[in-house]
Amino acid sequence: VGLMLAGLLWWLLWAQLKPLSDTTRFLAEMSDSEQPLCLLPSARKDEIGSLIGSFNRLMEVIEKRGSDLRESESRYRMLFEEMSDAFVLYAVETDAAGKPCDFVWLSANPVFDRLTGLVGDDIIGRRVTDIFSDHLAWTGPMSRVAESGVPETFEFRSPRSDSTVEVRVFRPALGQVACMFSDISARKRAEEALRRNLQNFRDFFAKNSLVMLLVDPQTGCIAEANRAAIAFYGYPYEQLIGKSLSDINDTPSAQFEAESTRAMQAERDALLLVHRLANGELRDVEVHLSPIDYEGRTMLFSLVHDVTERKRAEDKLIQLAQTDMLTGLPNRRHFIEMAERELDRRHRYGGPLSVLMMDIDHFKQVNDTYGHQVGDTVLQTVGQHFPPMLRNSDFVGRLGGEEFAAMLPETEAGRALEVAERVRQQVEKMEIACEDGRPLRFTLSIGVASLDGPGDCSLDALLAQADEALYAAKRDGRNRVQMFAPG
Ligand code: GH3
Ligand code: MG
Ligand code: MG
Repeated sequence: VGLMLAGLLWWLLWAQLKPLSDTTRFLAEMSDSEQPLCLLPSARKDEIGSLIGSFNRLMEVIEKRGSDLRESESRYRMLFEEMSDAFVLYAVETDAAGKPCDFVWLSANPVFDRLTGLVGDDIIGRRVTDIFSDHLAWTGPMSRVAESGVPETFEFRSPRSDSTVEVRVFRPALGQVACMFSDISARKRAEEALRRNLQNFRDFFAKNSLVMLLVDPQTGCIAEANRAAIAFYGYPYEQLIGKSLSDINDTPSAQFEAESTRAMQAERDALLLVHRLANGELRDVEVHLSPIDYEGRTMLFSLVHDVTERKRAEDKLIQLAQTDMLTGLPNRRHFIEMAERELDRRHRYGGPLSVLMMDIDHFKQVNDTYGHQVGDTVLQTVGQHFPPMLRNSDFVGRLGGEEFAAMLPETEAGRALEVAERVRQQVEKMEIACEDGRPLRFTLSIGVASLDGPGDCSLDALLAQADEALYAAKRDGRNRVQMFAPG
Protein backbone atom coordinates (compact mmCIF):
# COMPACT_ATOMS: atom_id res chain seq x y z
CA VAL A 1 0.00 0.00 0.00
CA GLY A 2 2.86 2.36 0.84
CA LEU A 3 4.36 1.85 -2.57
CA MET A 4 1.05 2.29 -4.31
CA LEU A 5 0.46 5.45 -2.31
CA ALA A 6 3.83 6.81 -3.38
CA GLY A 7 3.01 5.92 -6.97
CA LEU A 8 -0.33 7.63 -6.73
CA LEU A 9 1.18 10.78 -5.25
CA TRP A 10 3.83 10.84 -7.93
CA TRP A 11 1.20 10.48 -10.59
CA LEU A 12 -0.91 13.19 -9.08
CA LEU A 13 2.04 15.54 -8.97
CA TRP A 14 3.67 14.99 -12.33
CA ALA A 15 1.34 13.28 -14.70
CA GLN A 16 -1.82 15.08 -13.87
CA LEU A 17 -0.72 18.47 -12.66
CA LYS A 18 -3.89 20.49 -12.76
CA PRO A 19 -4.39 24.22 -12.51
CA LEU A 20 -5.65 25.83 -9.39
CA SER A 21 -9.07 26.18 -10.91
CA ASP A 22 -9.42 22.44 -10.51
CA THR A 23 -8.98 22.84 -6.82
CA THR A 24 -12.00 25.01 -6.66
CA ARG A 25 -13.92 22.30 -8.43
CA PHE A 26 -12.84 19.72 -5.89
CA LEU A 27 -13.83 22.11 -3.18
CA ALA A 28 -17.23 22.25 -4.73
CA GLU A 29 -17.64 18.61 -4.10
CA MET A 30 -17.27 18.95 -0.40
CA SER A 31 -19.99 20.22 1.77
CA ASP A 32 -20.15 23.00 4.25
CA SER A 33 -20.69 22.20 7.89
CA GLU A 34 -24.19 23.65 7.82
CA GLN A 35 -25.01 21.05 5.21
CA PRO A 36 -25.60 17.47 6.26
CA LEU A 37 -22.47 15.74 5.07
CA CYS A 38 -23.87 12.30 4.76
CA LEU A 39 -26.57 11.60 2.27
CA LEU A 40 -28.68 9.69 4.71
CA PRO A 41 -28.82 11.36 8.09
CA SER A 42 -31.70 9.14 9.07
CA ALA A 43 -29.51 6.10 8.67
CA ARG A 44 -28.21 6.10 12.21
CA LYS A 45 -27.77 2.57 13.46
CA ASP A 46 -30.58 2.65 16.00
CA GLU A 47 -33.07 4.23 13.62
CA ILE A 48 -32.22 1.89 10.81
CA GLY A 49 -32.50 -0.95 13.25
CA SER A 50 -36.03 -0.16 14.37
CA LEU A 51 -37.02 0.82 10.87
CA ILE A 52 -35.86 -2.47 9.53
CA GLY A 53 -37.67 -4.20 12.34
CA SER A 54 -41.04 -2.78 11.37
CA PHE A 55 -40.07 -3.21 7.80
CA ASN A 56 -39.35 -6.89 8.26
CA ARG A 57 -42.76 -7.41 9.80
CA LEU A 58 -44.35 -5.67 6.85
CA MET A 59 -42.31 -7.77 4.48
CA GLU A 60 -43.48 -11.00 5.98
CA VAL A 61 -46.97 -10.00 4.93
CA ILE A 62 -45.94 -8.63 1.58
CA GLU A 63 -43.74 -11.55 0.63
CA LYS A 64 -46.74 -13.83 0.61
CA ARG A 65 -48.43 -12.02 -2.20
CA GLY A 66 -47.79 -9.59 -4.97
CA SER A 67 -45.37 -9.47 -7.83
CA ASP A 68 -41.65 -9.11 -7.42
CA LEU A 69 -41.72 -5.51 -8.52
CA ARG A 70 -44.59 -4.36 -6.34
CA GLU A 71 -42.97 -6.15 -3.48
CA SER A 72 -39.68 -4.32 -3.68
CA GLU A 73 -41.43 -1.04 -4.23
CA SER A 74 -43.34 -1.25 -0.98
CA ARG A 75 -40.24 -2.52 0.69
CA TYR A 76 -38.42 0.67 -0.20
CA ARG A 77 -41.29 3.03 0.38
CA MET A 78 -41.00 2.76 4.14
CA LEU A 79 -37.30 3.47 4.01
CA PHE A 80 -37.89 6.33 1.60
CA GLU A 81 -40.37 8.16 3.69
CA GLU A 82 -38.14 8.12 6.70
CA MET A 83 -35.31 9.75 4.81
CA SER A 84 -34.54 13.43 4.93
CA ASP A 85 -32.71 13.29 1.61
CA ALA A 86 -34.41 12.74 -1.69
CA PHE A 87 -34.40 9.21 -2.96
CA VAL A 88 -35.72 7.47 -6.06
CA LEU A 89 -35.74 3.90 -7.25
CA TYR A 90 -35.89 2.90 -10.90
CA ALA A 91 -36.41 -0.35 -12.76
CA VAL A 92 -33.91 -0.76 -15.58
CA GLU A 93 -35.22 -1.32 -19.11
CA THR A 94 -32.89 -3.01 -21.55
CA ASP A 95 -32.71 -3.01 -25.33
CA ALA A 96 -32.53 -6.06 -27.57
CA ALA A 97 -28.82 -6.41 -26.85
CA GLY A 98 -29.44 -6.41 -23.11
CA LYS A 99 -27.98 -2.90 -22.64
CA PRO A 100 -29.77 -0.53 -20.26
CA CYS A 101 -31.73 1.97 -22.35
CA ASP A 102 -34.31 3.51 -20.07
CA PHE A 103 -35.40 3.73 -16.45
CA VAL A 104 -38.88 3.45 -15.06
CA TRP A 105 -39.79 5.20 -11.82
CA LEU A 106 -40.74 2.67 -9.17
CA SER A 107 -40.68 4.99 -6.21
CA ALA A 108 -39.85 8.49 -5.09
CA ASN A 109 -40.00 9.94 -1.62
CA PRO A 110 -41.71 13.21 -0.68
CA VAL A 111 -38.38 15.01 -0.39
CA PHE A 112 -37.80 14.25 -4.06
CA ASP A 113 -41.14 15.87 -4.89
CA ARG A 114 -40.12 18.99 -3.06
CA LEU A 115 -36.67 19.12 -4.61
CA THR A 116 -37.70 18.61 -8.20
CA GLY A 117 -41.35 19.55 -8.35
CA LEU A 118 -42.02 16.15 -9.87
CA VAL A 119 -44.90 14.73 -7.92
CA GLY A 120 -45.01 11.01 -7.26
CA ASP A 121 -48.16 10.13 -9.18
CA ASP A 122 -46.97 12.00 -12.28
CA ILE A 123 -43.79 9.98 -12.56
CA ILE A 124 -44.35 6.52 -11.10
CA GLY A 125 -44.41 4.02 -13.95
CA ARG A 126 -43.02 6.58 -16.42
CA ARG A 127 -39.64 6.65 -18.12
CA VAL A 128 -36.76 9.00 -17.46
CA THR A 129 -36.51 9.80 -21.18
CA ASP A 130 -40.17 10.86 -21.21
CA ILE A 131 -39.69 13.33 -18.41
CA PHE A 132 -36.27 14.89 -18.96
CA SER A 133 -35.40 16.49 -22.26
CA ASP A 134 -31.70 16.52 -21.38
CA HIS A 135 -31.85 13.02 -19.97
CA LEU A 136 -28.35 12.02 -21.15
CA ALA A 137 -26.82 13.57 -18.07
CA TRP A 138 -28.84 11.06 -16.07
CA THR A 139 -29.10 8.02 -18.25
CA GLY A 140 -25.35 7.98 -18.93
CA PRO A 141 -24.26 7.36 -15.35
CA MET A 142 -27.37 5.31 -14.57
CA SER A 143 -26.69 2.96 -17.49
CA ARG A 144 -23.11 2.48 -16.42
CA VAL A 145 -24.13 1.77 -12.85
CA ALA A 146 -26.91 -0.59 -13.99
CA GLU A 147 -24.33 -2.59 -15.91
CA SER A 148 -21.28 -2.47 -13.66
CA GLY A 149 -22.80 -2.12 -10.20
CA VAL A 150 -20.09 0.44 -9.38
CA PRO A 151 -21.69 3.51 -7.78
CA GLU A 152 -21.21 6.92 -9.41
CA THR A 153 -21.78 10.49 -8.34
CA PHE A 154 -22.71 13.42 -10.53
CA GLU A 155 -23.99 16.94 -10.08
CA PHE A 156 -27.30 18.27 -11.25
CA ARG A 157 -28.50 21.82 -11.31
CA SER A 158 -32.17 22.17 -10.56
CA PRO A 159 -33.42 25.30 -12.35
CA ARG A 160 -36.67 25.19 -10.43
CA SER A 161 -35.27 25.53 -6.94
CA ASP A 162 -32.04 27.22 -8.10
CA SER A 163 -29.99 24.67 -6.22
CA THR A 164 -27.19 22.29 -7.04
CA VAL A 165 -27.75 18.69 -6.18
CA GLU A 166 -25.29 15.86 -5.91
CA VAL A 167 -26.76 12.64 -7.25
CA ARG A 168 -25.38 9.39 -5.95
CA VAL A 169 -26.30 6.45 -8.19
CA PHE A 170 -26.01 2.87 -7.08
CA ARG A 171 -27.47 -0.55 -7.82
CA PRO A 172 -29.34 -2.12 -4.89
CA ALA A 173 -30.16 -5.17 -6.98
CA LEU A 174 -29.77 -6.38 -10.53
CA GLY A 175 -32.38 -4.66 -12.69
CA GLN A 176 -32.73 -1.71 -10.35
CA VAL A 177 -30.96 1.61 -9.97
CA ALA A 178 -31.36 3.94 -7.01
CA CYS A 179 -30.46 7.62 -6.71
CA MET A 180 -29.83 9.55 -3.51
CA PHE A 181 -29.71 13.32 -3.69
CA SER A 182 -28.08 15.84 -1.47
CA ASP A 183 -28.21 19.57 -1.75
CA ILE A 184 -24.69 20.93 -2.25
CA SER A 185 -25.67 24.53 -2.94
CA ALA A 186 -23.72 25.73 0.11
CA ARG A 187 -20.66 23.95 -1.14
CA LYS A 188 -21.13 25.62 -4.51
CA ARG A 189 -21.34 29.01 -2.87
CA ALA A 190 -18.06 28.32 -1.07
CA GLU A 191 -16.49 27.50 -4.40
CA GLU A 192 -17.72 30.78 -5.81
CA ALA A 193 -16.28 32.69 -2.87
CA LEU A 194 -12.95 30.98 -3.31
CA ARG A 195 -12.84 31.67 -7.03
CA ARG A 196 -13.48 35.35 -6.40
CA ASN A 197 -10.66 35.68 -3.95
CA LEU A 198 -7.91 33.16 -4.43
CA GLN A 199 -5.35 34.94 -2.28
CA ASN A 200 -7.60 34.26 0.64
CA PHE A 201 -6.83 30.60 0.32
CA ARG A 202 -4.85 30.50 3.53
CA ASP A 203 -7.70 31.98 5.49
CA PHE A 204 -10.16 29.78 3.70
CA PHE A 205 -8.13 26.72 4.54
CA ALA A 206 -7.65 27.56 8.19
CA LYS A 207 -11.21 28.50 8.97
CA ASN A 208 -13.02 26.02 6.81
CA SER A 209 -15.25 23.52 8.49
CA LEU A 210 -14.34 20.88 5.89
CA VAL A 211 -11.48 18.55 6.70
CA MET A 212 -8.49 19.80 4.72
CA LEU A 213 -4.87 18.69 4.55
CA LEU A 214 -1.88 19.84 2.58
CA VAL A 215 0.35 16.93 1.73
CA ASP A 216 3.96 17.16 0.66
CA PRO A 217 4.00 15.02 -2.49
CA GLN A 218 7.71 14.32 -2.13
CA THR A 219 7.40 12.65 1.25
CA GLY A 220 3.72 11.75 1.41
CA CYS A 221 3.58 13.53 4.78
CA ILE A 222 1.01 15.98 6.06
CA ALA A 223 2.48 19.47 5.89
CA GLU A 224 -0.52 21.45 7.04
CA ALA A 225 -3.88 20.59 8.57
CA ASN A 226 -6.83 22.80 9.40
CA ARG A 227 -8.87 22.87 12.59
CA ALA A 228 -11.54 20.61 11.10
CA ALA A 229 -8.88 18.01 10.31
CA ILE A 230 -7.53 18.11 13.85
CA ALA A 231 -11.03 17.62 15.21
CA PHE A 232 -11.78 14.81 12.79
CA TYR A 233 -8.62 12.78 13.22
CA GLY A 234 -8.34 13.53 16.93
CA TYR A 235 -4.59 14.15 16.94
CA PRO A 236 -3.08 17.32 18.38
CA TYR A 237 -1.79 19.64 15.65
CA GLU A 238 1.89 18.85 16.35
CA GLN A 239 1.24 15.12 15.97
CA LEU A 240 -0.85 15.37 12.84
CA ILE A 241 1.77 17.48 11.07
CA GLY A 242 4.52 15.28 9.75
CA LYS A 243 2.40 12.13 9.84
CA SER A 244 2.64 10.11 6.67
CA LEU A 245 -0.58 9.50 4.76
CA SER A 246 0.10 5.80 5.09
CA ASP A 247 -0.06 6.22 8.90
CA ILE A 248 -3.74 7.19 8.76
CA ASN A 249 -4.62 5.06 5.78
CA ASP A 250 -6.20 1.73 6.69
CA THR A 251 -7.76 0.82 3.37
CA PRO A 252 -7.75 -2.91 2.55
CA SER A 253 -5.11 -3.28 -0.15
CA ALA A 254 -7.49 -4.68 -2.78
CA GLN A 255 -9.77 -1.67 -2.34
CA PHE A 256 -6.83 0.71 -2.41
CA GLU A 257 -5.54 -0.79 -5.60
CA ALA A 258 -8.93 -0.58 -7.30
CA GLU A 259 -9.43 3.02 -6.18
CA SER A 260 -5.96 4.14 -7.31
CA THR A 261 -6.36 2.47 -10.67
CA ARG A 262 -9.68 4.17 -11.17
CA ALA A 263 -8.28 7.54 -10.16
CA MET A 264 -5.28 7.19 -12.46
CA GLN A 265 -7.53 6.28 -15.36
CA ALA A 266 -9.28 9.54 -14.49
CA GLU A 267 -12.60 7.83 -14.11
CA ARG A 268 -13.02 9.42 -10.74
CA ASP A 269 -11.55 12.37 -8.94
CA ALA A 270 -12.20 11.06 -5.46
CA LEU A 271 -10.80 7.99 -3.76
CA LEU A 272 -12.98 5.95 -1.47
CA LEU A 273 -10.64 4.96 1.36
CA VAL A 274 -10.62 3.91 4.99
CA HIS A 275 -8.90 6.21 7.48
CA ARG A 276 -7.99 5.42 11.05
CA LEU A 277 -8.64 8.10 13.67
CA ALA A 278 -6.46 8.71 16.73
CA ASN A 279 -8.86 6.67 18.89
CA GLY A 280 -8.51 3.72 16.53
CA GLU A 281 -11.93 4.14 14.95
CA LEU A 282 -12.14 3.42 11.22
CA ARG A 283 -14.08 5.77 8.95
CA ASP A 284 -14.99 5.46 5.29
CA VAL A 285 -13.77 8.63 3.61
CA GLU A 286 -13.90 10.14 0.18
CA VAL A 287 -10.56 11.84 -0.45
CA HIS A 288 -10.30 14.50 -3.12
CA LEU A 289 -6.67 15.19 -4.05
CA SER A 290 -5.42 17.98 -6.22
CA PRO A 291 -2.02 19.63 -6.78
CA ILE A 292 -1.90 23.33 -5.93
CA ASP A 293 0.73 26.07 -5.65
CA TYR A 294 1.11 26.94 -2.04
CA GLU A 295 3.67 29.47 -0.86
CA GLY A 296 5.81 28.83 -3.90
CA ARG A 297 5.72 25.04 -3.66
CA THR A 298 3.55 22.43 -5.26
CA MET A 299 1.51 20.68 -2.64
CA LEU A 300 -1.32 18.21 -2.72
CA PHE A 301 -4.48 19.80 -1.49
CA SER A 302 -6.58 17.09 0.07
CA LEU A 303 -10.21 17.25 1.11
CA VAL A 304 -11.48 14.46 3.31
CA HIS A 305 -15.19 13.77 3.33
CA ASP A 306 -16.55 11.32 5.91
CA VAL A 307 -19.00 9.01 4.10
CA THR A 308 -19.29 6.30 6.75
CA GLU A 309 -23.01 6.81 7.33
CA ARG A 310 -23.76 6.98 3.64
CA LYS A 311 -21.84 3.79 2.98
CA ARG A 312 -23.60 2.04 5.85
CA ALA A 313 -27.01 3.05 4.49
CA GLU A 314 -26.05 1.95 0.99
CA ASP A 315 -24.86 -1.41 2.24
CA LYS A 316 -28.07 -1.82 4.23
CA LEU A 317 -30.23 -1.03 1.23
CA ILE A 318 -28.32 -3.46 -0.93
CA GLN A 319 -28.66 -6.14 1.71
CA LEU A 320 -32.40 -5.49 2.02
CA ALA A 321 -32.85 -5.76 -1.71
CA GLN A 322 -31.06 -9.08 -1.81
CA THR A 323 -32.51 -10.87 1.18
CA ASP A 324 -35.67 -12.84 1.69
CA MET A 325 -37.04 -11.41 4.91
CA LEU A 326 -38.67 -14.56 6.22
CA THR A 327 -35.69 -16.90 6.00
CA GLY A 328 -32.78 -14.49 5.74
CA LEU A 329 -31.62 -16.37 2.64
CA PRO A 330 -30.84 -14.67 -0.67
CA ASN A 331 -34.09 -13.95 -2.50
CA ARG A 332 -34.86 -15.15 -5.99
CA ARG A 333 -33.27 -12.22 -7.77
CA HIS A 334 -30.07 -12.37 -5.77
CA PHE A 335 -29.82 -16.12 -6.12
CA ILE A 336 -30.17 -15.81 -9.90
CA GLU A 337 -27.54 -13.08 -9.91
CA MET A 338 -25.06 -15.21 -7.97
CA ALA A 339 -25.87 -18.27 -10.04
CA GLU A 340 -25.29 -16.36 -13.31
CA ARG A 341 -21.91 -15.26 -12.00
CA GLU A 342 -21.03 -18.82 -11.06
CA LEU A 343 -22.11 -20.10 -14.46
CA ASP A 344 -19.97 -17.43 -16.15
CA ARG A 345 -17.01 -18.50 -14.11
CA ARG A 346 -17.64 -22.10 -15.04
CA HIS A 347 -17.82 -21.23 -18.74
CA ARG A 348 -14.40 -19.63 -18.46
CA TYR A 349 -12.62 -22.17 -16.32
CA GLY A 350 -14.64 -25.33 -16.84
CA GLY A 351 -15.34 -27.85 -14.09
CA PRO A 352 -18.57 -29.48 -12.99
CA LEU A 353 -21.50 -27.69 -11.38
CA SER A 354 -24.85 -28.83 -10.00
CA VAL A 355 -28.17 -27.31 -9.03
CA LEU A 356 -30.72 -28.62 -6.54
CA MET A 357 -34.33 -27.52 -6.82
CA MET A 358 -36.13 -28.21 -3.55
CA ASP A 359 -39.83 -27.97 -2.71
CA ILE A 360 -41.58 -28.84 0.54
CA ASP A 361 -44.15 -31.59 0.11
CA HIS A 362 -47.84 -30.93 0.75
CA PHE A 363 -47.03 -27.57 2.22
CA LYS A 364 -50.52 -26.32 1.58
CA GLN A 365 -51.70 -28.95 4.07
CA VAL A 366 -49.31 -27.63 6.71
CA ASN A 367 -50.84 -24.19 6.31
CA ASP A 368 -54.38 -25.53 6.21
CA THR A 369 -53.91 -27.74 9.28
CA TYR A 370 -51.69 -25.63 11.52
CA GLY A 371 -52.11 -22.14 10.19
CA HIS A 372 -49.95 -19.76 8.22
CA GLN A 373 -47.81 -18.85 11.23
CA VAL A 374 -46.67 -22.44 11.68
CA GLY A 375 -46.15 -22.65 7.92
CA ASP A 376 -43.81 -19.67 8.22
CA THR A 377 -41.93 -21.34 11.05
CA VAL A 378 -41.43 -24.40 8.87
CA LEU A 379 -40.01 -22.21 6.10
CA GLN A 380 -37.71 -20.42 8.53
CA THR A 381 -36.50 -23.66 10.08
CA VAL A 382 -35.80 -25.28 6.75
CA GLY A 383 -34.18 -22.10 5.43
CA GLN A 384 -31.85 -21.81 8.38
CA HIS A 385 -30.79 -25.43 8.07
CA PHE A 386 -29.78 -25.37 4.42
CA PRO A 387 -26.51 -23.44 4.63
CA PRO A 388 -24.94 -25.60 7.38
CA MET A 389 -25.79 -28.72 5.36
CA LEU A 390 -23.73 -27.41 2.43
CA ARG A 391 -20.17 -26.38 1.74
CA ASN A 392 -19.03 -22.78 2.05
CA SER A 393 -18.74 -22.38 -1.69
CA ASP A 394 -22.33 -23.60 -2.18
CA PHE A 395 -25.21 -21.17 -1.90
CA VAL A 396 -28.94 -21.41 -1.35
CA GLY A 397 -31.80 -19.06 -2.15
CA ARG A 398 -35.53 -18.95 -1.57
CA LEU A 399 -37.02 -18.82 -5.03
CA GLY A 400 -40.50 -18.16 -3.72
CA GLY A 401 -43.21 -19.80 -1.61
CA GLU A 402 -41.88 -23.11 -0.31
CA GLU A 403 -39.37 -23.52 -3.10
CA PHE A 404 -35.62 -23.26 -2.58
CA ALA A 405 -32.64 -23.75 -4.86
CA ALA A 406 -29.01 -24.52 -4.15
CA MET A 407 -26.05 -24.16 -6.43
CA LEU A 408 -23.07 -26.45 -5.87
CA PRO A 409 -19.97 -25.30 -7.76
CA GLU A 410 -17.29 -27.87 -8.57
CA THR A 411 -19.74 -30.67 -7.85
CA GLU A 412 -20.49 -33.42 -10.34
CA ALA A 413 -23.79 -35.27 -10.61
CA GLY A 414 -22.97 -38.27 -8.39
CA ARG A 415 -21.75 -36.10 -5.56
CA ALA A 416 -24.72 -33.71 -5.95
CA LEU A 417 -27.09 -36.66 -5.61
CA GLU A 418 -25.40 -37.62 -2.34
CA VAL A 419 -25.69 -34.08 -1.04
CA ALA A 420 -29.36 -33.91 -2.04
CA GLU A 421 -30.07 -37.22 -0.39
CA ARG A 422 -28.42 -36.07 2.82
CA VAL A 423 -30.44 -32.85 2.79
CA ARG A 424 -33.64 -34.82 2.19
CA GLN A 425 -32.90 -37.12 5.13
CA GLN A 426 -32.07 -34.28 7.48
CA VAL A 427 -35.27 -32.43 6.65
CA GLU A 428 -37.23 -35.63 7.17
CA LYS A 429 -35.81 -35.79 10.70
CA MET A 430 -36.65 -32.20 11.62
CA GLU A 431 -39.42 -31.55 14.12
CA ILE A 432 -41.29 -28.39 14.93
CA ALA A 433 -43.16 -28.15 18.22
CA CYS A 434 -46.78 -27.15 17.73
CA GLU A 435 -49.10 -25.57 20.26
CA ASP A 436 -50.73 -28.88 21.11
CA GLY A 437 -47.28 -30.30 21.86
CA ARG A 438 -47.28 -32.76 19.01
CA PRO A 439 -44.18 -32.52 16.83
CA LEU A 440 -44.84 -31.43 13.28
CA ARG A 441 -42.82 -33.16 10.59
CA PHE A 442 -42.50 -32.52 6.92
CA THR A 443 -40.57 -33.68 3.88
CA LEU A 444 -38.84 -32.30 0.84
CA SER A 445 -38.61 -33.34 -2.79
CA ILE A 446 -35.44 -32.48 -4.70
CA GLY A 447 -34.61 -32.30 -8.40
CA VAL A 448 -30.95 -32.32 -9.42
CA ALA A 449 -29.36 -31.07 -12.65
CA SER A 450 -25.64 -31.05 -13.41
CA LEU A 451 -23.16 -29.76 -15.93
CA ASP A 452 -20.23 -32.11 -16.24
CA GLY A 453 -18.58 -32.18 -19.61
CA PRO A 454 -17.68 -29.25 -21.84
CA GLY A 455 -20.36 -27.15 -23.48
CA ASP A 456 -22.45 -24.18 -22.49
CA CYS A 457 -25.82 -24.18 -20.89
CA SER A 458 -27.89 -21.18 -19.86
CA LEU A 459 -28.98 -20.80 -16.27
CA ASP A 460 -32.61 -20.87 -17.38
CA ALA A 461 -32.06 -24.21 -19.09
CA LEU A 462 -30.23 -25.65 -16.10
CA LEU A 463 -32.94 -24.54 -13.66
CA ALA A 464 -35.61 -25.89 -16.00
CA GLN A 465 -33.86 -29.27 -15.95
CA ALA A 466 -33.73 -29.28 -12.14
CA ASP A 467 -37.40 -28.26 -12.12
CA GLU A 468 -38.31 -31.12 -14.40
CA ALA A 469 -36.47 -33.55 -12.13
CA LEU A 470 -38.28 -32.06 -9.14
CA TYR A 471 -41.59 -32.59 -10.89
CA ALA A 472 -40.64 -36.23 -11.50
CA ALA A 473 -39.76 -36.63 -7.79
CA LYS A 474 -43.21 -35.28 -6.87
CA ARG A 475 -44.92 -37.54 -9.36
CA ASP A 476 -43.07 -40.60 -8.04
CA GLY A 477 -44.42 -40.08 -4.54
CA ARG A 478 -42.54 -37.08 -3.00
CA ASN A 479 -39.88 -37.15 -0.23
CA ARG A 480 -37.31 -38.24 -2.77
CA VAL A 481 -34.39 -37.08 -4.89
CA GLN A 482 -34.50 -37.25 -8.66
CA MET A 483 -31.72 -36.64 -11.17
CA PHE A 484 -32.59 -34.92 -14.42
CA ALA A 485 -32.61 -37.43 -17.27
CA PRO A 486 -32.77 -35.99 -20.79
CA GLY A 487 -35.27 -37.35 -23.27
P1 GH3 B 1 -46.52 -30.30 -3.41
O1 GH3 B 1 -46.19 -31.45 -2.55
O2 GH3 B 1 -46.98 -30.72 -4.76
O3 GH3 B 1 -45.39 -29.32 -3.51
O4 GH3 B 1 -47.76 -29.58 -2.75
P2 GH3 B 1 -47.77 -28.23 -1.98
O5 GH3 B 1 -49.00 -28.16 -1.18
O6 GH3 B 1 -46.51 -28.06 -1.24
O7 GH3 B 1 -47.71 -27.20 -3.17
P3 GH3 B 1 -48.63 -26.01 -3.56
O8 GH3 B 1 -47.84 -25.27 -4.60
O9 GH3 B 1 -49.98 -26.49 -3.95
O10 GH3 B 1 -48.79 -25.12 -2.29
C1 GH3 B 1 -47.79 -24.28 -1.84
C2 GH3 B 1 -48.33 -23.52 -0.68
O11 GH3 B 1 -47.34 -22.72 -0.08
C3 GH3 B 1 -49.45 -22.60 -1.04
C4 GH3 B 1 -49.12 -21.29 -0.35
O12 GH3 B 1 -50.20 -20.81 0.39
C5 GH3 B 1 -48.00 -21.66 0.56
N1 GH3 B 1 -47.06 -20.56 0.78
C6 GH3 B 1 -46.37 -19.87 -0.15
N2 GH3 B 1 -45.60 -18.93 0.44
C7 GH3 B 1 -45.80 -19.03 1.78
C8 GH3 B 1 -45.28 -18.34 2.92
O13 GH3 B 1 -44.46 -17.43 2.83
N3 GH3 B 1 -45.72 -18.72 4.15
C9 GH3 B 1 -46.63 -19.73 4.29
N4 GH3 B 1 -47.00 -20.07 5.52
N5 GH3 B 1 -47.13 -20.39 3.24
C10 GH3 B 1 -46.74 -20.06 2.00
MG1 MG C 1 -44.72 -27.92 -2.29
MG1 MG D 1 -44.21 -25.26 -4.77
